[in-house]
Amino acid sequence: MSVDHYAFASDNAIGICPEAWAAIEESNLNGVGSYGDDAYTKEACQRIRDLFEKDVEVYFVFNGTAANSLALSAICRSYHAIIAHEKAHIHTDECGAPEHFTGGSKILPCSGELAKLTTSEIDRAVSQRRDLHFPKPKAMSITQSTEFGTTYSVDEVRALTECARSHGLRVHLDGARFSNAVASMGVSPAETTWKAGVDVMSFGLTKLGVGVGEAVVFFDRSLAEEFDYRCKQAGQLASKMRFLTAGWCGLLRDDAWIKVARRANAHAQILREQLSDVPGVELLFPTQANAVFARFPQPVNAAMASKGWHYYELAGIGDSRLMCSWATRKEDIFAFVNDLRQC
Ligand SMILES: *Cc1c(COP(=O)(O)O)cnc(C)c1O
Repeated sequence: MSVDHYAFASDNAIGICPEAWAAIEESNLNGVGSYGDDAYTKEACQRIRDLFEKDVEVYFVFNGTAANSLALSAICRSYHAIIAHEKAHIHTDECGAPEHFTGGSKILPCSGELAKLTTSEIDRAVSQRRDLHFPKPKAMSITQSTEFGTTYSVDEVRALTECARSHGLRVHLDGARFSNAVASMGVSPAETTWKAGVDVMSFGLTKLGVGVGEAVVFFDRSLAEEFDYRCKQAGQLASKMRFLTAGWCGLLRDDAWIKVARRANAHAQILREQLSDVPGVELLFPTQANAVFARFPQPVNAAMASKGWHYYELAGIGDSRLMCSWATRKEDIFAFVNDLRQC
């Protein structure tokens, strides 16, 4: 097999994993019922309830931007504010969709090492202004695993949500790579979400291996009131919903999701180890999920590009972000590191 030069570009650059693909193919022959009224959507919702050990409300939308924006719109009104890390996807990569779908809520970006929010930053953001002339803080959003491939421990999540609650904030979790975080920490999905104080979550499996479709999971069911109308109005109700949810069934059956996540994480650890042996390579953040952040001497990036390799700078500090996924092969890792040595 030839080298995949896109292997580390993004966990979006890969295809659909075999487990999801098989279920989608099966649903193509079996699925009837539209707009979510079908056996696959029912199964996917039930499996998510089982996964979180709670009778949650679940809605499927097309992508993560919609999941985040609509989840936040269920918490915030137009005059509210959302506290998030300055590197949060909702702040940097959603083209103002959270502001748009909330009708004007302002995101208050906070700093913090390793793309992680801290209680002192929440305190600061909430206390900076308390008057009528400034939007009222109403939500806190954290990302698990973070945009820098780090994770919040269960204790860290709990400390943040307790702090948020003391200020009257509701808690949203962006879980675009939640499976990778859970796999690396060895905790249960329940422990690190609602048991630790999360109210609503955007649960993503696209990067893990489905083709399209993210879930909005309400741990506090009261927040889901009329959420079906929000989804429909936003153009996020799929008529052939089963093609979104069959892939979820495939990954949630037989614990495939955690096996796939563990495999991606393990490949990231191998890549990190291999890189640590290459002279001139600086490893930037701990690898706690499926991302490796490194810094190469500047001319190396151009040389790697001319060898055909695709990867991105994400932290804005001359970094190279290398993502692993279900599709990452050891051959790709060895080929990448070999080319890097030559460069
Ligand atoms: C990829 C990603 C999303 C979802 O992005 P879409 O392109 O809208 O699907 C959300 N949050 C984080 C942290 C992500 O990395």
